[in-house]
Amino acid sequence: MKQMEAIIGERGDEKFLMSPDYKYVFNKKTGFFARWGKTKEDDPQWSPFGPEILDLEISTSATCSGRCKFCYKKNAAGQENHNMTFDEFVSIFEKFPKTLTQIAYGICDIDTNPDFFRMMEYAKEHGVIPNYTCNGHKITTEIAKKTSEICGAVAVSLVTKESSYNAIKMFTDSGMTQCNIHYMLSEETYDSAFEVVDEIAADPRLAKLNAIVFLQYKPKNKEADFHSCVNPDRYSKLMKYWKKEMLIMVLIHVLVLLLWESLKAEKIRKDLQ
Ligand code: SF4
Repeated sequence: MKQMEAIIGERGDEKFLMSPDYKYVFNKKTGFFARWGKTKEDDPQWSPFGPEILDLEISTSATCSGRCKFCYKKNAAGQENHNMTFDEFVSIFEKFPKTLTQIAYGICDIDTNPDFFRMMEYAKEHGVIPNYTCNGHKITTEIAKKTSEICGAVAVSLVTKESSYNAIKMFTDSGMTQCNIHYMLSEETYDSAFEVVDEIAADPRLAKLNAIVFLQYKPKNKEADFHSCVNPDRYSKLMKYWKKEMLIMVLIHVLVLLLWESLKAEKIRKDLQ
């Protein structure tokens, strides 16, 4: 088979890869990513030059304050916590081809791995955008600010709602536009997902939330008594509920805006009289 050649480069905020059969463009500021093939209609199933995204766990979960019963890393429970060192991270990073655009860091608590922010800074300095998912615990305004300076996106899992919602407000107030909720969807957590949708529509702390991502439960932890939510009718009911709530929210926003504009117009009219 003939070996293909690729050109990987950067132009302003954009990183790109060009080759005859596979091309991509990634905007490091907005997160926009597009891949295509020989023609714009082609949708290559995989990257022949190396991965576009790296999902990296940098700590085991032995000491995580989340204590989630469904923790996918719980198989390490009872063992000593292990943190990836900065040197280990650099050695892994250097082994990856330049095709990499983003790293999704899997952490435990925000402070579990003392080298976490240093690793993210290193990735960014080398043209790869860091993102992470946290449990919402121990987030401060300083951490939120630092995150908005380094990261493209951040996801907050709903472990303790109050902490998670406060963390989302801190992230979005510090300028993060790509701040998402990660919700673990299982048969056991299905009903509460509707409550979360209601709260997103009503809680001002979540006004600038980008998205809620429903993660299908994967039975990795042998001790956990959870079941994947695989019934398509139940899934579609949740999606429809989400759409209805969002429509109501948009309508309320439009009504408030119209009221505000008409009050403004009335004031201008009076001022001109
Ligand atoms: S917050 Fe994440 S790492 Fe910590 S216990 Fe929960 S699922 Fe596991």
